[in-house]
Order: sequence, then structure tokens, then C-alpha cells
Amino acid sequence: MTLMVDYCPKCGSIYQKNLRNLCSSCSMEMDNGLNRCLDHLWMRPKSTTKDLAKATGVSLAELHTFIKSGRLSPLTYSNLTYPCESCGCDTSSGRLCRSCTGVFKEAGKSDLPPEPHRQLIVKKTTKVLYTSRFR
Ligand SMILES: [Zn+2]
Ligand SMILES: [Zn+2]
Repeated sequence: MTLMVDYCPKCGSIYQKNLRNLCSSCSMEMDNGLNRCLDHLWMRPKSTTKDLAKATGVSLAELHTFIKSGRLSPLTYSNLTYPCESCGCDTSSGRLCRSCTGVFKEAGKSDLPPEPHRQLIVKKTTKVLYTSRFR
């Protein structure tokens, strides 16, 4: 049997590969961080992701991972957000924010009802164009 080892993406030390893709000390630290977040949210369920990062010392990137993986749920804590994968603005469901989801749906010709064609409004000028012959 071969041992699968890799560098821990967090601390860079060599560890035996596992499902979490983190060495044991980092995964323990992550659990501690998650517990601190849950403790904080228990007291202040309306915390935003940034509040949480400040209060617990857990990095925003890690919080985003927690939220995306469902360990911290925006369904329970409504102010938890993570950046949209397309434009980077705050979102709390899926991989894209609401406006990007709309754009992608439109581009993909989804099952949304077709939007009425946008009318091109051409302003007709009423001004008389004076040309040199009137001089
Ligand atoms: Zn590590
Ligand atoms: Zn977006």
C-alpha cells in the first residue's frame, strides 16, 4: 500500500492525503475556527461574513469555504455571503450572484420567457440643418 502524501495547501507541511485535503493540525484549526464562528453566530445570528472574520480571526477565504460547503448556512444566518464567482459581489446562494445568474441564463437561452425586443429609439432631429448655401 502506498501512502498518498501531499503538501498541505494551508501550512505547506507534508501530510497524508485525506478527504479534507488538509494536514491534521490545519484541519483541527479549521474545526476550531468553525466552532468559534458557530459560537459567535449563536450570539449574533445577524453577523455578516466580515463581522465574523473580525470576531473570530478566521480568514474571509476560509469563511467563504465554510459557507459554500454548507457548514455555515446563509439560510440560517441570513447575512452570511461570499463573492460571486463571476463579478465578486456578495451572494448567498449558488456560485453566482443574482444579476450574473440572469446574464448567464440569458446567454444560455434558458427556459425563461422571451423578453420583448428592446426598441431602438431614434431621436429625430427637428432642427433645420443649415448648409453653406444659405449664407
Ligand atoms: Zn497544514
Ligand atoms: Zn455576480
